[in-house]
Amino acid sequence: MKKLFVISGSSGVGKGTVIKDLLKNNDDVKLSVSTTTRKPREGEVNGVNYFFVEKEAFIKSVNNNEFIEWAEFSGNCYGTKKDFVENTLKNGQNVLLEIDTQGALQIKEKMPETVLIFIAPPSLEELKKRLIGRGTETEEAIQKRLSCVEKENENSKFYDYIVVNDTVENAVLKIKEIFNKENQK
Ligand code: 5GP
Repeated sequence: MKKLFVISGSSGVGKGTVIKDLLKNNDDVKLSVSTTTRKPREGEVNGVNYFFVEKEAFIKSVNNNEFIEWAEFSGNCYGTKKDFVENTLKNGQNVLLEIDTQGALQIKEKMPETVLIFIAPPSLEELKKRLIGRGTETEEAIQKRLSCVEKENENSKFYDYIVVNDTVENAVLKIKEIFNKENQK
């Protein structure tokens, strides 16, 4: 049966790269584009990476009950549109969300059949190195994101699968195996 899959992981763990690889030549899984109040990073495109909105518009969508989940992460709001998830599942396709652990736990409560996958770094040191190395955040934003790691690790206990991102290749392979296994259930 086609399902809703959620991938989470701390900033810098390499979720983006893993997901990009996972979706290459894969028509069976549709990635949901989230809405956020965060400002676009260089190269990010509205409607592709996120729907970038002002706080006011975000709150309006919350009040109109348009989000299946939403959360505040590191000073910005992020939410998943309910319509997209419901329609894609109805069309018989898997849906993939790349969201934080607060949102993931909200979804698991509403839809217990959702499969939660947590991508973990090989070590905390490696995570810090990757986050600093990608160079997309200010020092302050890096510290703010690192301060979330402990809570994220705690929340990961409620996940169905933990995949260590030692290499992208390995992580993608493991996630593909999870998708196949879950779709056979
Ligand atoms: P970033 O600002 O690095 O793109 O994302 C920050 C965090 O927000 C990441 O952990 C990412 O998974 C999460 N995120 C992205 N979209 C959503 C969403 O729609 N809902 C929730 N709850 N988290 C999201």
